[in-house]
Amino acid sequence: MTKRYELSELIRSDNFIDGKWVAASGGKRFAVTNPATGETIAQVAESDAADAHAATDAAARAFPAWRDALPKDRASVLHRWHALMVENADELGRLISLEQGKPFAEGRGEVMYGASYVAWFADEATRIYGDIIPQQQRGKGMSAVKEPIGIVAAITPWNFPLAMIARKIAPALAAGCTVVGKPAEDTPLTALALVMLAHEAGVPPGVLNLISASRENAVPAVADWLADSRVRKITFTGSTPVGKYLARESAGTLKKLSLELGGNAPFIVFDDADLDAAVTGLLAAKFRNGGQTCVCPNRVYVQAGVYERFADLLSTRVAALKVAPATDTAAQIGPMINARAIDKIARHVEDAVNRGARVLTGGKRLPELGLNYYAPTVLADATPDMQLSCEETFGPVVPLFRFDDEADAIRAANDTPFGLASYFYSQDVRRIDRVARRLEAGIVGINEGALASEAAPFGGVKESGYGREGSKYGLDDYLSIKYLCQGGLE
Ligand code: ADP
Repeated sequence: MTKRYELSELIRSDNFIDGKWVAASGGKRFAVTNPATGETIAQVAESDAADAHAATDAAARAFPAWRDALPKDRASVLHRWHALMVENADELGRLISLEQGKPFAEGRGEVMYGASYVAWFADEATRIYGDIIPQQQRGKGMSAVKEPIGIVAAITPWNFPLAMIARKIAPALAAGCTVVGKPAEDTPLTALALVMLAHEAGVPPGVLNLISASRENAVPAVADWLADSRVRKITFTGSTPVGKYLARESAGTLKKLSLELGGNAPFIVFDDADLDAAVTGLLAAKFRNGGQTCVCPNRVYVQAGVYERFADLLSTRVAALKVAPATDTAAQIGPMINARAIDKIARHVEDAVNRGARVLTGGKRLPELGLNYYAPTVLADATPDMQLSCEETFGPVVPLFRFDDEADAIRAANDTPFGLASYFYSQDVRRIDRVARRLEAGIVGINEGALASEAAPFGGVKESGYGREGSKYGLDDYLSIKYLCQGGLE
């Protein structure tokens, strides 16, 4: 039997350590606010290094028993957690909308998406095979077995408050690891609710521990994990500078790292593309979460022969998008996460216009709707010297670059330190093969704008990081291989 909760019951404001809700050791709190109104939703624990340390102590105590639990028992716990997430999808979706601002339909969609990773890794828990190595020497038996790596520290961003943490916790628990985690300061409530459901699903005390902290206090709290040799792995989704910092600071204890960092995704439309499909794919990829995802197309390259037509078709569809509070059932785009985010968007658009971009639609803030709203925007005549060409805008802005031939498009697409997602539209089978192989990215969408799936490996190359989440590869990051060599067999 699964239990359905009211929204108010899902809002937790303490840390969850060793199976108990506890206030931060310093007794301090910080406010979590609604990005559309600035109203305070809850005052959550302002944790510091002592709380991070207490979480690691609990995870260390719980590790031996969880590591040795039968995989099918770990799978059952994860399946129960999945059922509770699905049962409470409406209220969790509302909570995401409340603290993050995405429209309810997207919030609910995120719950189902995050839950799909839990179900996937529940099944994978029972399929962690090793190898018997064919005999190389008489009298010796050789095999490779996979073991949980140990305590995992999970640090997550605000743009998917549920999915980002679910797709880290689920494989860690499936593998037999224990977890300490810290969600983003803007959106800790959904993660705390998720942990509450995990506890109800039967995750034993100490196996999953979560602390909240403001950005300022996140630094010493996470630093405690970075320095602690009991923490064997860091799994992080967030910005490239913070990812590099975590890699540097964890070098002292040589932790394994999974880093899912920033992208600067190219989206290429060739002359031979189905233009309607390309517009639909771009809308799906670009405007999900108001453009605040690391796989959102940031640079759209359109071949000269179809440039004007594509720009027209796209601007008409973008101008029709409904911007409204997350509570409005017709909303397609909600508020941006905070003032810092919307200032960056406005700065990028202003810089582009100053350098010659034409605003086809949007290009302005929408203060009449509340805090942090920006109109969905299409800019024509984008050029590589503009800020939005080299930095992720992370907002509802589409800059259109013009190109003449395929080689130019590939060169421009790859001319970035990042390599997470990329997209292109073409109906020429030979071109599809060529371009797919030459794009420097961990993920390539070919005539498709919606790529994420629990069955697929998600991750980047270059400065977008390393490690993969989801798919049959997703458990490897939480396992280490042990080689067993038994002698005296003859
Ligand atoms: P974003 O730009 O999306 O906020 P960040 O990389 O800044 O991405 O933040 C992602 C996560 O990393 C958040 O949970 C944030 O609190 C955490 N974080 C940011 N800076 C640090 C730091 N110096 N040490 C530890 N954690 C950090």
